[in-house]
Amino acid sequence: MLGLFSEAEYAYRLALRLASTPRFTGSKGEAEARELLARELSSFGYSVSFEPFKVKVYEVERASLEVLEPERRFVECSPIGFSGETGEEGVEGELAYIEGGDAALLPAGKGWIGLASARPDKEGWRKLAGRASGLVVAEGSPSRELSRVEVPYEWRERLGSLPAVYVRYWDAVSLLKAKRVRLVVQQEYRDVETFNLVAEKRGAKYPDEVVYLVAHLDSVYGVQGALDNAGGSALAVAVAKALSRESLKRTLRVVLFSGEELGLRGSLAHVEQRKSELKNAIVVVNLDVHGAAIGSTSVVVTGSKSLRHAVEFVARRLGVKVNVSEDVMSSDGASFAREGVPSVNVFRSSGAAGNAHTVKDSPELLHPLAFELPGLLALEFVREVANAEEPPFEREIPDEIKRKVDDYFRKRLGILD
Ligand SMILES: [Zn+2]
Repeated sequence: MLGLFSEAEYAYRLALRLASTPRFTGSKGEAEARELLARELSSFGYSVSFEPFKVKVYEVERASLEVLEPERRFVECSPIGFSGETGEEGVEGELAYIEGGDAALLPAGKGWIGLASARPDKEGWRKLAGRASGLVVAEGSPSRELSRVEVPYEWRERLGSLPAVYVRYWDAVSLLKAKRVRLVVQQEYRDVETFNLVAEKRGAKYPDEVVYLVAHLDSVYGVQGALDNAGGSALAVAVAKALSRESLKRTLRVVLFSGEELGLRGSLAHVEQRKSELKNAIVVVNLDVHGAAIGSTSVVVTGSKSLRHAVEFVARRLGVKVNVSEDVMSSDGASFAREGVPSVNVFRSSGAAGNAHTVKDSPELLHPLAFELPGLLALEFVREVANAEEPPFEREIPDEIKRKVDDYFRKRLGILD
């Protein structure tokens, strides 16, 4: 170990334990992970509570893709959660390559099944749902395993059903020769109650002012989610452990969110329930995607230039090289930005993160060294903000970033009208 971040080894071991099982929202695996982290945080002296909220989840019954012409064969596929259902018999139709849903490639009429090069966004979904009776999405890279992902449930309810599956890249190439296919997607939806884990350490001088340290605990369906985000959850708890031994001027609130993979549901529920208190939230440090052996440190600042400079100042002081951008990240920080709270989203860039949302995001990707530099940066930044007599940055979110946040919720995530 390098010993730059005192709790790197602890973070690694905790990440391994979390990543031993999938943690889909509302599942037993998720509940056990949450209880484990609650026990840890509690043992470090944090006051721990559980914040309930309701969320829709899906359960896959069956998905299959059969080529009917020119010759009959099955192609392995993975269903897209909440996309729609075909019934047991499935839907049969001409298979049309539609790339990104380019109008030039869409067949006339209805009832065909699209073969797309990427999952459509909300507008694309709206267009396709009215015309295609199913959708086959190709993985973007020849080395990528099947994605286990979903679209927001609102798309199916408001824009229309479009039963959809992922296929591997080379299978998609072979499907370019297919003329007719049968697609079966059977899945069920239900409402569950799940919980965010909230742990607090009260500030000694400015207890009403809150510094957030957050990560999402849930994984996508049936995937161990070692890097995304057992690694980030473990790192957040490790930073909390390191800070538990000292007095902080501001209150430190550590939140491990549920439902992030289903569309930031846990953090949206949190900001909704605590709306009135958020004016006292100084900043959110969000850890999402961590633990890959070989990589580098990246930060997305959803906030002001001065917040960016504050992060860069701490990073340079420590000798941690960071790749910083000012943007919105598809993670829980975005939910806070909607309420005017800036975020510093720290993640580990790595080729291994290309396995996110597939079964290959598994514990062997984790390595103790991966927690050293991001751990050091997160620890020092949180400590700096929690102890500064005045926060070392403007809390305002610039209009340009606000627009990006708005676009993200309306178009990319597509859950707001
Ligand atoms: Zn994530």
